[in-house]
Amino acid sequence: MNEFSLIDQYFKSIPSTRSEVVFGIGDDAASLQVPKGMNLLVSTDTLVSEVHFLPQWNAYDIASKAIRANVSDLVAMAALPCCFTLALTLPNNDEQWLASFAKGISDAAALYNMDLIGGDITHGPLAINVTVMGLAPTGQEVRRNGAQAGDIVFVSGALGAAALAVQFLDKKDLLQQHRNELMAKLMHPTPRIDLIELLRKYATSAIDISDGLSADLNHICRASNVGAYLTKDSLPIHPLVVTYLKNKSVDLAISGGDDYELCFTVSPSKVDAFLSELKDRGLGCYKIGQIEKAQGLRIQFSDGHCEDLVPQGYQHF
Ligand code: ADP
Ligand code: MG
Repeated sequence: MNEFSLIDQYFKSIPSTRSEVVFGIGDDAASLQVPKGMNLLVSTDTLVSEVHFLPQWNAYDIASKAIRANVSDLVAMAALPCCFTLALTLPNNDEQWLASFAKGISDAAALYNMDLIGGDITHGPLAINVTVMGLAPTGQEVRRNGAQAGDIVFVSGALGAAALAVQFLDKKDLLQQHRNELMAKLMHPTPRIDLIELLRKYATSAIDISDGLSADLNHICRASNVGAYLTKDSLPIHPLVVTYLKNKSVDLAISGGDDYELCFTVSPSKVDAFLSELKDRGLGCYKIGQIEKAQGLRIQFSDGHCEDLVPQGYQHF
C-alpha cells in the first residue's frame, strides 16, 4: 500500500462530526470555522519510540497515549478538544500495526469528540506527532502566569503511578493485576476534562503534570514570578507506589512524569466555593501547598521545618 491508500483506508475513514470543521482530510490544508466568542487553542506533542513508549507496545496503546497526552495540554488551558492532525513517521507499512494504530486513534477521537482533520506520513524511525486544537470562550483560557502569592496549590489526583510503571515494567515480583493497573495508567492516562468548567471559574493558573509535579509547578512559578511550598504529608501518592517503593514514594510523586493530572492554583478567598462545587460534582482534588512571594520551591515536613526543593522531572536535553 502506498501512503495515499494508507491515508484513505485507515485515517480518512475515521468518522468526523464536528460542525467547526468546514473540510478536513484530502486537501492541502483543513479549514476550521471558530464559533463566535470562542478562541482556538493549539498544542503539539511528539511521541518517539524508546522515549515515550516502547516499540513492543500495542499500536492501539501508542495511539491512545498520543491523543490523551495531547488532550491533556488543552485541558490544562481549560479548552475543550475539537480536532487534531496526525503526522506519522513509520519504519514500514505493516498493515496489521496500522489497523490497530488507527483503531486507537479513532477510539480516542470519539472519546474526546474530536475530528482528525489532516496529517502527514513519512518513512523513518517510529514517531507520532499530534497537533490538537481546542476551544475556550475568549478570555477564559487558564494560563501558567496567573498564580499570586497566597493562592492555594491543588493537584487533581494521585501521583507516581506512571513513573512506577516505567521503573517496574520488567520486575517479576509485580502482581499481574497491579502490572495491568500501572500499565493502564501509563498508556491510557485520563485528561481531566471533568475539571475544565471549574478551572475556568476558579483557577488563577494551571498546568498538566507531564514532566513531574515539581518541574511543572516550577513552570507555573516562573511564569507567574512567584515561588511555592508543598506540604509533604498532603501529597497524594498513588497507593501502588507506597506498596512497591515506599522509601522512594515521595520522590516519585514529586518528580515522576506522565501522570497527566492537573496542578493549579486557586485564590484563598475562593477555595471554599471551589471545594463545595467540586464536591457537588462528585469530584475531589488535593490541597498540596501554597504560592509565596519568595521565588523557588520548598517542601514542608510534618515537624514544620522547610527544605528547598530542586525542581525535578523528565528532561530531553
Ligand atoms: P501534501 O503532499 O499536500 O502535504 P499529503 O499527501 O501529505 O499532502 O496528504 C494528503 C492529505 O491527507 C492531506 O489532506 C493530509 O492532511 C492528509 N493526511 C496525510 N497523512 C495523514 C494522516 N496520517 N492522518 C490523517 N490525514 C492525513
Ligand atoms: Mg500540499
